[in-house]
Amino acid sequence: MIVNETLTRVVELRREIHRHPELGFQEHKTAEVVERELDSLGIEHRRVAKTGVVAFIRGSEAGPVVGLRADMDALPITEESGEPFTSENSGVMHACGHDAHTAMLLGAARILQAQRDQLSGTVVCLFQPAEEGPGGALPMIEAGVLDDPPVSAIAMLHVDPRLETGTIGITAGAIQAATDEFAIEVIGRGGHGAHPHLAADAIPAAAAMVLGMQNIAARETDPLKSVVVSIGTIEGGYRNNIIADHVKLTGTFRSHDVDVRDSLEARARRILEGIARAYGVEVRFTVDHGYPPVVNNAALARDFADYMRAHANIRLVAPAPTMGGEDFAYYAQRIPGLAIRLGIRDEAKGTTVAGHSSHFRVDEDALPIGVETLVKFAIGVCDRSIIPQPIVEAVVE
Ligand SMILES: [Zn+2]
Ligand SMILES: [Zn+2]
Repeated sequence: MIVNETLTRVVELRREIHRHPELGFQEHKTAEVVERELDSLGIEHRRVAKTGVVAFIRGSEAGPVVGLRADMDALPITEESGEPFTSENSGVMHACGHDAHTAMLLGAARILQAQRDQLSGTVVCLFQPAEEGPGGALPMIEAGVLDDPPVSAIAMLHVDPRLETGTIGITAGAIQAATDEFAIEVIGRGGHGAHPHLAADAIPAAAAMVLGMQNIAARETDPLKSVVVSIGTIEGGYRNNIIADHVKLTGTFRSHDVDVRDSLEARARRILEGIARAYGVEVRFTVDHGYPPVVNNAALARDFADYMRAHANIRLVAPAPTMGGEDFAYYAQRIPGLAIRLGIRDEAKGTTVAGHSSHFRVDEDALPIGVETLVKFAIGVCDRSIIPQPIVEAVVE
């Protein structure tokens, strides 16, 4: 289905972007690669959100407006993948596949642009910065990318080494988690290690808080509504015989359900303040809210899966949700959205390593499957085989 010329170009672009990875909001060269390619294809585009690019493929007739989104940023990791096109920007690596996402969207744009005389409607291609943080989706939305023209549905692809090459994953409902960070400061009173009764020891209070926080997931949340409470750092104390007056802990909350998410801060505060009182210390607790959960629109997931079964020879699976985060969530809060997983797992090639590892690699044989999936989503919506139902009560943040 994908002609060789497009495929060769997608691989070329992916390797070029892979060689020159850039962190969030520093995607200057990547955005230039995207713009140069769009120019060569005669596709109209503009800059948004510092290093973001939005492009418009206008069909010969009016019709639905459909969005396709790729993320462009890399991670602060030193590459050890052994690929011949390894990162030339030391300490930065495309370890999450965003190089492949960008190249596949450019491939889809090439095909859609070539077919635009048969297209009724407009395809908006969103090349987004800073998915890995601090988040480029909201600035793109604030720049109006969903409004002018008004986009009726949006899809994205993410490479997934859990799924075999040759498959795509479509799962309805919450598939990725809200990512909220928290910090706990325990303030006691220092003293000599030999005279604990004259001090207020922050260390046992902090230890009780670590255990007490687990109660949120273990005892207080419906086990069918996933929640993670992880404490990642703990710092405090001076030496073996000094009572610590201060301990700092940081961690992350992950959740799929919006009501559960909204309850986490108050629950944690109740537990922490109760423990602080019991141990005679003070506690300061702060939560920094990150991305909301990614919720795949159920009707859109069903209709696109049906469409792919009828119009493509690609194996469909419904992978389990994960507790990872993804700022595609912001688009999918506003309009029907679909985050599609793209299988890249090939045992023989060794493309089995999870993202965010210095050894992460992508099976490039998956790229044409991703391009075809994006093209089919755009065509399915434009020819009204797939009719997105607007979200009635958008929860927007
Ligand atoms: Zn990532
Ligand atoms: Zn990613």
